[in-house]
Amino acid sequence: MDKGILVLNAGSSSLKFALYQHGGGEKLDVSCHGEIEAMMTAPRFVVRDKTGAEIGAQSWPKPIDAETGLRVLLDWLNKNRGAVPLAACGHRLVQGGERYHGPALVDAEALDYLDGLAMLEPQHQPSEVEGMRAIARIHPELPQVAVFDTSFHRAMPEVSQIYAVPKTVHDAGVKHWGYHGTSYDYINRTLPHYDAGAKKVIVAHLGSGASMCAILDGKSIATTMGFSGIEGLPMGTRSGAIDAGALLYLLRRGFYDDKSLQHMLYEEAGLKGLSGISNDVRTLLASNSPAAKLAIDYFVHRIVYFAGAYAALLGGLDAFVFTAGIGENAAPIRAAVCARLKWLGLDFDAAANANNGPRLSTESSTVRAWVIPTDEEIMIARHTLALIEGAAADAHAQFGQQAP
Ligand code: ADP
Repeated sequence: MDKGILVLNAGSSSLKFALYQHGGGEKLDVSCHGEIEAMMTAPRFVVRDKTGAEIGAQSWPKPIDAETGLRVLLDWLNKNRGAVPLAACGHRLVQGGERYHGPALVDAEALDYLDGLAMLEPQHQPSEVEGMRAIARIHPELPQVAVFDTSFHRAMPEVSQIYAVPKTVHDAGVKHWGYHGTSYDYINRTLPHYDAGAKKVIVAHLGSGASMCAILDGKSIATTMGFSGIEGLPMGTRSGAIDAGALLYLLRRGFYDDKSLQHMLYEEAGLKGLSGISNDVRTLLASNSPAAKLAIDYFVHRIVYFAGAYAALLGGLDAFVFTAGIGENAAPIRAAVCARLKWLGLDFDAAANANNGPRLSTESSTVRAWVIPTDEEIMIARHTLALIEGAAADAHAQFGQQAP
């Protein structure tokens, strides 16, 4: 019988979901997907089929918590997709800490550990853990799997995982964790279908959050996000790397306290802060304002800066991949980056770029450039399926039960 894998990505005010159907083998088909948005203000639940057509909706007049939203979602799935019973729920988790170097089945003790990491990542981790706790309350028998953004980077060499701080600071958790790992995992597994020979690879995940990753022989060796998701590239509203001394100065001079400083760095900086206009690259590219141009120039400057650094760490470059909202759609950004990587051997194909690739480099280019759409949800679904099937096979081996 077909089984369903529910994938959840719980944010502080919204909850995205996708239901996958598995009928055997490796194939996973998306059955429906959607979101519970604006949970703190004017909540709305919407479900779409795989073509994007709306097939279910509900609104609430006042704020709801995650459990209320999830009960409505599970009830809807039961009534409308009940022929494919849920076999497991996979969750996007930002922080897996030192313990999780890969996806894991989660129990109450693991949830306590993950809750304990919330101080390291206060933006997403608490709502993600609460999403798992809510599912455990509603559906205690349903296996739950956590897939971590940090896991992919735990293979990085030690020098890429540390800061030059005393041991006590390191032991308090101040490490170069890296994020967007589920997206990099997906691109890493997908790239061979496009470019079978690529061993030295740079991936630029350019969405409203943006980072880059250097991948050598399928393993992360460096990534731009660090202890937090502020580090590295400038983003829609996040600053990217900023001198720690400047933050001390702002605090000491009373321009900010820790809360307002966090707000500025996460919500008011980046492309929005630099342009004074918008965090959206579409708006900035369409604007004639010099400040919008400066924001785009700074974004490209930082991507090229890290591309050069990562080519050095990789000892050369075979392929450069653009992904996520900006990477998949913003042809002028890709053109500006690729033009400045010509010295590495990237011969850019402007016509292919205008059509969003997938290949952006000419046939004779020694460095290949690609646009590959990312899909974090299917990666979470695949890991979830693999873990529950592995657990069933283990049970079979241990107790002689029939694996389903
Ligand atoms: P996230 O999942 O991190 O919220 P996305 O990967 O969806 O973000 O990327 C969102 C960003 O992608 C938008 O803020 C916008 O700047 C950019 N974007 C989306 N479509 C286009 C487009 N057609 N041209 C340029 N930029 C785009």
